[in-house]
Amino acid sequence: MKFEERYSRLPEDALPQEIVLLMGRGCFYKKCSFCDYHMDSGPDSESVSLNGRVLEQVTGEFGRLVVLNSGSYFELPEATQKRVLEICHQKKIRHLHMESHWLLHEKTRFLKDELAQEGISLHPRIGIETFDEQYREAVMHKGMGYNQAPSAIAEVYDECCLLFGMTGQSPEQFEEDIAIAAKYFSRVYVNIFNDNSTAVKADPELIRWFARYSLPKLQKDPKICVLMNNTDLGVGD
Ligand code: SF4
Repeated sequence: MKFEERYSRLPEDALPQEIVLLMGRGCFYKKCSFCDYHMDSGPDSESVSLNGRVLEQVTGEFGRLVVLNSGSYFELPEATQKRVLEICHQKKIRHLHMESHWLLHEKTRFLKDELAQEGISLHPRIGIETFDEQYREAVMHKGMGYNQAPSAIAEVYDECCLLFGMTGQSPEQFEEDIAIAAKYFSRVYVNIFNDNSTAVKADPELIRWFARYSLPKLQKDPKICVLMNNTDLGVGD
């Protein structure tokens, strides 16, 4: 990935923000059937200095920073996590967004409580992908387990990501997902599946349905952000 693909600013977003895409040690889970995103990883000897240079670009102009990496925030080297918080304090950034897997929800809750005492609101984001647990666990292999009430997930996570357009999904499944997500989470990211290096395939008919019937409605809702392509946030390749 090119250096310039690791920083972006979204002044026009409903939540104006700066975004950094940092390099971590790689997703500890790596089992989701649709994902090859965990390939952006490297040893601390490489990533700490790279991340430091990416973070130098953060100005704090919006008071809101989104830190993304391939996997969960906790897979960033400790030195990078420390630098992120230093920058938040230096630049008066009071809202920090990050991602973490459900299996790390206790750690996420702890960090949220800890940062609240330092005046930083942590907004954890989780890739739920779908609330259809059978599909999520048996086909996507998401590793969240069964019987996870959306309200319980939302006690820790403020934001969630849905994934739509994979073979085997349906418009009905999506309608249900978006209704649940919008009810419980303050921000919802809808990722449209793009073919990648995994065996999972996009369903072009489903994506056409989405673009025609769902996208126009969702674009009017400021709490929903639709990413038709993986690079729509201005970071990544
Ligand atoms: S979707 Fe997230 S949790 Fe799943 S393998 Fe990819 S990086 Fe890991």
